[in-house]
Amino acid sequence: MVTAPPIRRPDDGAPRTVLVAGGAGFVGSHLCDALLAAGHTVICLDSFLTGSETNVAPLENHPRFRLVRHDICEPVAIEEPLDEIYNLACAASPPHYQADRVHTMLTSVQGTHNLLTLARAHGARFLQASTSEVYGDPEEHPQTEDYRGNVNCTGPRACYDEGKRAAETLCFDMLHGAGVDARVVRIFNTYGPRMRADDGRIISNLVVQALRNAPLTVYGSGAQTRSFCYVSDLVDGLMAMMAVTPNPQVPVNLGNPGEFAVRDLVAIIRSLIPTSSPVEHRPLPQDDPRRRRPDISRAKTLLGWAPRVTLAEGLPPTIDWFAQLAPPAAGRRDAVPRERASNIGATP
Ligand code: UDP
Repeated sequence: MVTAPPIRRPDDGAPRTVLVAGGAGFVGSHLCDALLAAGHTVICLDSFLTGSETNVAPLENHPRFRLVRHDICEPVAIEEPLDEIYNLACAASPPHYQADRVHTMLTSVQGTHNLLTLARAHGARFLQASTSEVYGDPEEHPQTEDYRGNVNCTGPRACYDEGKRAAETLCFDMLHGAGVDARVVRIFNTYGPRMRADDGRIISNLVVQALRNAPLTVYGSGAQTRSFCYVSDLVDGLMAMMAVTPNPQVPVNLGNPGEFAVRDLVAIIRSLIPTSSPVEHRPLPQDDPRRRRPDISRAKTLLGWAPRVTLAEGLPPTIDWFAQLAPPAAGRRDAVPRERASNIGATP
């Protein structure tokens, strides 16, 4: 149980050198932007397995940004002193992390160990991007950090779920056994610009399909739920967790508690994007979690963090992002009619 709320590290404005593993990915690249804007030096490490050069291309000539192509499954050596390390390096969508399950597992276990070893060598603070997937198909709802989860350790999602669980164990073992200032956040479903169109996740799929007038794919009945956090809120939460002092020494959920059934999401996307797309039901993937919603009491207490961007506010810029990747059908000028965007009633 969490007892005394720790004090947030005062923002003394001192520039720090920060390594972001997975920094060319969807979340990682937004984090790089935010760290640079805060005056820090950023070393972005990425294997480009799922990260994209386009995401970091605008930073290429930034004087405080350096890009290193590297797979964290291999040992990592950085010469300049590091103050902080964020580990966001792992394929995160089910189709991508299942494409090479052994590599996914090793990225979480071997890769996290390599970065923790680097953190120990540099005396750097370390933040591990864990996941709501550690709760598996949860039997408690909403999910608090004390819930220990319901994961099938031999199923198709296990490489990610169990890899991330093992990575959490490594973080706490290195915290208690080797003095590494390691922290763990459990990230729930996140969306926003820079998601990949072929990511395979629900928001990217539905938006791209609607823009192309292609069938909207609903797996199973569509009654399963998820909670969607806009990427800027998540980045704020990651930086708050890195900044808080003393180390909370417990995992912290980061997500938006607004909960939506997949079929509700279909209706919302249809209300935002004029489309003739029919719904196409497909089989529910094995071990697909039936419900997911974060309890964020701990993040509120420890970090003073809560998401601010509603789905109504976050979807239009997300749709605009996909529209410029895959232009909407002829005759449409605005992917998201603004008057419709304001009609989504759900709030976090
Ligand atoms: N899903 C769906 N159609 C799609 C993609 C996903 O119905 O085209 C469902 C999926 O089965 C799951 C939910 O949407 O129940 C969220 O899936 P996603 O892959 O976005 O994330 P995760 O399952 O990892 O939370």
